[in-house]
Amino acid sequence: QFISFEGPEGSGKTTVLKELYERLNTSYDVIMTREPGGIKISESIRALLLDSDDEMDERTEALLFAAARRQHLVEKILPQLNKGGIVLCDRFVDSSLSYQGYAREIGVEEVKAINEFAIESVYPDLTLYFDVPAEVGLNRIKDNNRDSNRLDKEKIEFHHKVSEGYKQLIAEYPERIKVIDATQSLESVIEDAYQVIVNFLNQ
Ligand code: C5P
Ligand code: MG
Repeated sequence: QFISFEGPEGSGKTTVLKELYERLNTSYDVIMTREPGGIKISESIRALLLDSDDEMDERTEALLFAAARRQHLVEKILPQLNKGGIVLCDRFVDSSLSYQGYAREIGVEEVKAINEFAIESVYPDLTLYFDVPAEVGLNRIKDNNRDSNRLDKEKIEFHHKVSEGYKQLIAEYPERIKVIDATQSLESVIEDAYQVIVNFLNQ
């Protein structure tokens, strides 16, 4: 089963994912991975996307995210799914639809089209959306003194648009995308997310 974790900056998805991986690992064949990245080629593309201070054309950016996604899917995600295992993935195609399609205003349908080329309809079976207002998430990142990168330097309006883009996806895919209230304490967020995943795996 393919499970993706989505949400705005500072929503806690990476922290929660690691904790859930530890819990699930005791009884399931599970791997955790992240986007962009997860394998060597895609981590190199990640560095191109995040580490440079150069201006990048938004369509170039969208194509690089899609390229990183394709290689990661083929090299790491599909082999695990094909042997019946579980994949926990920090971001997947919904990130591109919200960030590049909606927030960068390339157009959700156009970004969906290039991603369809990349993923050949392999959508996650389940997506957890970590719901937190943009301001709250950004404050958490500031408090944590996390390394910032090129894409973190966006104005608040950009982050509002990212959330808006996600809201549209949640409306479009209500069966696949489950919303977790990520404003709660970390323990409660982990517990909620764990319940959603276990219910899904047992259904
Ligand atoms: O998930 P993580 O915080 O590591 O993402 C790294 C950066 O890439 C973030 O700043 C995020 O805004 C950005 N990003 C993006 N478009 C995507 C995925 C991530 O702009 N499709
Ligand atoms: Mg993260």
